[in-house]
Amino acid sequence: MSNRLNQVIVDYGKARIDTYRKIYRAIKRYDRIVIFRHIKPDFDAFGSQLGLAQFIKDNFPNKEVHVVGDNHVSFTGRIYPEMEELSNEFFKDRNFLAIVLDVGDHHRIADPRYKNAKYIVKIDHHPCRAEITKKCALVDLDISAASELVADVILNWKGTTLSKEAAKWLYTGIVGDSGRFMYSSTNQHTFAVAEELIKTGININEIYQVMYEKGINNLYVTAYILNSFKLSEHGVAYYVMSDETQKKLNITSELGKENINLFSNIRGINVWCSFSEDVAAKEPTWWVSIRSKKKDISGIAAKWHGGGHAQASGARISGLHELDALIKDLDDLFVEEN
Ligand code: AMP
Repeated sequence: MSNRLNQVIVDYGKARIDTYRKIYRAIKRYDRIVIFRHIKPDFDAFGSQLGLAQFIKDNFPNKEVHVVGDNHVSFTGRIYPEMEELSNEFFKDRNFLAIVLDVGDHHRIADPRYKNAKYIVKIDHHPCRAEITKKCALVDLDISAASELVADVILNWKGTTLSKEAAKWLYTGIVGDSGRFMYSSTNQHTFAVAEELIKTGININEIYQVMYEKGINNLYVTAYILNSFKLSEHGVAYYVMSDETQKKLNITSELGKENINLFSNIRGINVWCSFSEDVAAKEPTWWVSIRSKKKDISGIAAKWHGGGHAQASGARISGLHELDALIKDLDDLFVEEN
């Protein structure tokens, strides 16, 4: 192991270093590797998955490496390449390594065929309620992004190289999940990793441009949100995107949460949420994205069929009849403060 990061934030205890070695040995051992991540992918899911895949391809050119999972209505094509369609035939030969990234619970993995793998490695930063593998799991709840953790692992492996291409993907994941280096999960380690990625020659201005540029249509979506949002007594702001509204605004349910951070720097707003109806889901579903300035909202997200991180979590309700109760749970977090 050779730590190229030269910093002290991460506690590299023996167990952690052993796990880094175990992951490296697993990659060396298998000729066929498939990288999985969570459903409804975000920047970090794609970034960690594509970054690690590229790193393996660069350093082990003879291995067969695949990335699978659902595509994203706006990211795929614009930021990230299409995912692969691997046939069931491929998975019949169980002699492959599954690496599962950025997901704690098995029911959120975008492709269930990870179960066929002879060996499973998990690298993640979410609390876990339904374990994916007992054999090799690296979980760091304090790290801002799975991409930061993947980069940390890579940077600690001696004699490997980190290409510009791999660094670019990992950088998008870190920027995405750290809220552009603004969430409280951002620390010295996040910047140390970012520095190593930037040293490869990536163009961060180009990366920001492609990640955050929006179309003119988005102004109409913003106008709708600003005209319709509600604010609870103790500073929980929220907006609702019904299927009908999505159709009028020419967006899909995945994009309902895209403008959630309009509320992030407003005095008096402690928590902000979006509710997006998903008529394509098997059962009545409204996806809820929750963001918080300071307080940990992950427990409330977990209560409402979701989970996530202290300041960024996701949940689900079955209809608007549940909205007031969810908002009350969030609002109650601040009752004593005001
Ligand atoms: P979102 O609002 O969908 O962008 O999600 C914010 C964060 O919460 C991301 O890190 C997600 O991975 C996580 N998250 C969203 N939904 C869930 C869930 N059902 N279970 C666990 N984590 C979730």
